[in-house]
Amino acid sequence: MASLLESGWLYLTTNFSDFQLASLGSFIIHEGVFFLSGLPYLMMECWGLQKYKIQRKVNTPAAQEKCVLRLLLYHTCVNLPLMIVSYPVFKYMGFTSQLPLPSWKVISFQILSYFILEDFIFYWGHRFLHTKWLYKHVHSVHHEYATPFGLTSEYAHPLEILFLGFATIFGPAITGPHLFTLWIWMSVRVLETVEAHCGYDFPWSLSRLLPIYGGADFHDYHHRLLYTKSGNYSSTFTYMDWIFGTDKGYRKLKGLQKPGSEVEGRVVDRQENIVLGRSRNLVERRSTIMD
Ligand SMILES: [Zn+2]
Ligand SMILES: [Zn+2]
Repeated sequence: MASLLESGWLYLTTNFSDFQLASLGSFIIHEGVFFLSGLPYLMMECWGLQKYKIQRKVNTPAAQEKCVLRLLLYHTCVNLPLMIVSYPVFKYMGFTSQLPLPSWKVISFQILSYFILEDFIFYWGHRFLHTKWLYKHVHSVHHEYATPFGLTSEYAHPLEILFLGFATIFGPAITGPHLFTLWIWMSVRVLETVEAHCGYDFPWSLSRLLPIYGGADFHDYHHRLLYTKSGNYSSTFTYMDWIFGTDKGYRKLKGLQKPGSEVEGRVVDRQENIVLGRSRNLVERRSTIMD
């Protein structure tokens, strides 16, 4: 297995330059992982699969089409140039693509570190994006979808795409990783953010197995509430919101939803109605914000 992987890697590094692999290669892998993981959730929404869906509302075909077309445009005109211009930084920081491939122990440690760093940067940047001016002019684009589906994870203003890119490549840039580690990091980060926006909370979702992992239910709450009240700013974990008290509304709602809660049925219905009511009013409220 290892030798097969290394043979494949040797083929890549002898036929393509480091620059081609780090820019175009990374772009192809990103597009492949993003659309292959995001499209099934879009199909599930189109087919009307309601079991495990977090919100009852579904997006119109026009809204779904707008998201896909905008993504193709931004990925080509923003993400690809960003991958090209960040190459000299990676090279300067010690980036390599040479054999031998790093051990799985090194890869796991680096990727866990990248997740922690990215989550920290994302949390503070995201809170900043929820201030009035930045929300109105930048972050409201991402929040156009109050009922997210996987592909909406990267639907954002170009300036926000630059911020997301910075948060994602900061860890690798300071450690100067192996290209193999960089591609794995990029793939798992894409899978994580697509899952957080998928709109479905499955019994097998990672958030149910790992309590500090946010996941779809955690981030869906962020999308369906008014921008000043949403909380849940972290990208991957839940502890930053817990430490800084920005998950109080979400925890209160989840507390009410616990089986056996004395007010479980009636109040949860009421809470969800409040949430859904806010969601329905969001477009009207947003137009007020835009004024
Ligand atoms: Zn937000
Ligand atoms: Zn989001």
